[in-house]
Amino acid sequence: MEHNLVLYNTLTRKKEKFVPIHPNMVGMYVCGPTVYSDVHLGNCRTFVSFDLIFRYLVHLGYKVRYVRNITDAGHLEGDNDEGDDKFAKKAKLEQLEPMEIVQKYTIGFHDVLRMFNTIPPSIEPTATGHISEQIEMVQQIIDNGFAYEVNGTVYFDVEKYVKEYNYTILTNRNLEDMLNNTRELGGQDEKRGRLDFALWIKAKPEHIMRWPSPWGVGFPGWHIECSAMSRKYLGDQFDIHGGGMDLAATHHTNEIAQSEACNHTSPAKYWMHTNMLTVNGARMSKSAGNGFLPGELFTGDHKLLNRGYSPMAVRFFMLQAHYRSTLDFSNEALEAADKGYKRLMAAIGLLDKIVTSPKSNFGNLEEIKKRSYAAMDDDFNSPVLIAELFEVVRIINSIYDGKLTITEGDLNELKDYLSAFVYDILGLKDDQVGDTDNMDDLMQIIINLRNEAKKNKDFVTSDRIREHLTAVGIQLKDSKDGTLWNKI
Ligand code: AMP
Ligand code: ZN
Repeated sequence: MEHNLVLYNTLTRKKEKFVPIHPNMVGMYVCGPTVYSDVHLGNCRTFVSFDLIFRYLVHLGYKVRYVRNITDAGHLEGDNDEGDDKFAKKAKLEQLEPMEIVQKYTIGFHDVLRMFNTIPPSIEPTATGHISEQIEMVQQIIDNGFAYEVNGTVYFDVEKYVKEYNYTILTNRNLEDMLNNTRELGGQDEKRGRLDFALWIKAKPEHIMRWPSPWGVGFPGWHIECSAMSRKYLGDQFDIHGGGMDLAATHHTNEIAQSEACNHTSPAKYWMHTNMLTVNGARMSKSAGNGFLPGELFTGDHKLLNRGYSPMAVRFFMLQAHYRSTLDFSNEALEAADKGYKRLMAAIGLLDKIVTSPKSNFGNLEEIKKRSYAAMDDDFNSPVLIAELFEVVRIINSIYDGKLTITEGDLNELKDYLSAFVYDILGLKDDQVGDTDNMDDLMQIIINLRNEAKKNKDFVTSDRIREHLTAVGIQLKDSKDGTLWNKI
């Protein structure tokens, strides 16, 4: 099938045809988490959005190298390169080594993303594992005349840079306004210009995460790690750079500046930004204290939640909004998503029970496929795809009820279509079945209760348990090895 994938490029502020730099290959870099605390649901939304993008590119046949970093060093509390390192702060609070903090929350991050059924990136580089690459890049920027060192700290010279390049290319802001919104330099300031930012920061004596450098002992600024690691694994120029919208104004703006000042080329052809998950209209964030942890959502153990929701219902909730729209969190919206997800899974479950006919009269599967691809080709429009899938759900239910017919060949094609769009592209899986180990444990509990009833000669209860299980498709069999069960 001919594809004409179009995506919204923040750099040009319009939808553009996707043409990779090297035919059939895609290099994609996405800013990963800062692993100093648990990821919240907002972070997860961004990573689920890029999982959808990654999955679709792979589905289209591209060989994708997907790089997503782990920020485990040099991320300061303040935007002005001031304050303590976030890891050091948390380490003091939890009485752990900074690298214990990093390990703990990296594992937590992976666990959560696995529950959301996201595919791991091809490469997941850490900032602490790439200090020499960052030092090398800082040195090149100094050599090219776009950075200067003061007392062990290296700053990027924004005023010099803007003479040759467009510093506000990503957000289209007015440079004058930016300057006006930045505080005046104080007498103590080492920086030459108000917009200058640190590439390398001199470590105070108490700073634990520290590395030797040509400028003394210190640690890297936050922005330089992404420039250095994207260059190492994807080259000076690659196809897609992504992250949450909140990163565009500072982090990504500075990444572009660093890469241009170092390599004389803009790093990415397409910049993609995902919109925020909000709670009552306010951005979900760690600092605002309105952040749900995914675990709280799964168990329902949170004061704002009526009940718990499965990871797949939450993934479905996220995919029902376009990645560039905000998504507001509410019990009602989750409840609706949960119902929708279950309806979709139930319909797919019916496919194996459908009786085929010599003729099909349910409509045109090719047209459905075409519209589904058109939705995804239009800047990964998952909500439009999901609306299309609900049309298919209605068709399946009608075929099952005998109101419409389908041939065996068409049924197989319908199964392939659903497997591609629901499982491969949307990345959903059927969590309604439960894994068999868990099912076995649950069945043992029920079987033991029935045996107890039998022992107490409460045959009414023991028979009722057997009948109820039969009604949901589970059969019990008493044998010399005890009571066994199977699905009918
Ligand atoms: P952080 O760990 O804070 O660096 O954030 C990791 C990723 O999550 C970044 O790409 C952020 O843009 C993204 N992010 C943070 N808050 C939200 C939110 N409320 N909704 C969607 N994405 C978010
Ligand atoms: Zn980054």
